[in-house]
Amino acid sequence: MHFKTTGLQMKRAQCNCGALTAEVEGEPEAVVACSCTDCQRRTGSVIGVGAYYPAERVRISGASTSWEREAASGKKFRQNFCPVCGSSVFFTADLKPGIIGIAVGAFADKDFPKPMRSVWEQSHHAWLGLPEGIPHFPRGRAG
Ligand SMILES: [Zn+2]
Ligand SMILES: [Zn+2]
Repeated sequence: MHFKTTGLQMKRAQCNCGALTAEVEGEPEAVVACSCTDCQRRTGSVIGVGAYYPAERVRISGASTSWEREAASGKKFRQNFCPVCGSSVFFTADLKPGIIGIAVGAFADKDFPKPMRSVWEQSHHAWLGLPEGIPHFPRGRAG
């Protein structure tokens, strides 16, 4: 897939070894911090932060391995990781067709936009702060 030349800013996420990359165009539609235990296990960190883009503004390059699980919604969630180094780089959910989530840590950009909401705080590690002035949910946004 090739981007049209829109003049929008490009950003690049990648795995540790660099074999799997995700280039995105423009700003994310949402940035969400998720403290669910599935995100904790997916990332190996205590919180997962995802940036969500329409698929037409994302270009994935390199091989990825996909692992599918059932999300709390009951719909399928697929996480895609580098088969060489194991970094979790992007994810898709049947709940949100046409949207690709990118692991914000894979951008390695400390100035990346902060989360606009925080979900699954019932399993949040209390020592880790969260942004103020954003919606906070004990579980998913719908419940
Ligand atoms: Zn890799
Ligand atoms: Zn989660």
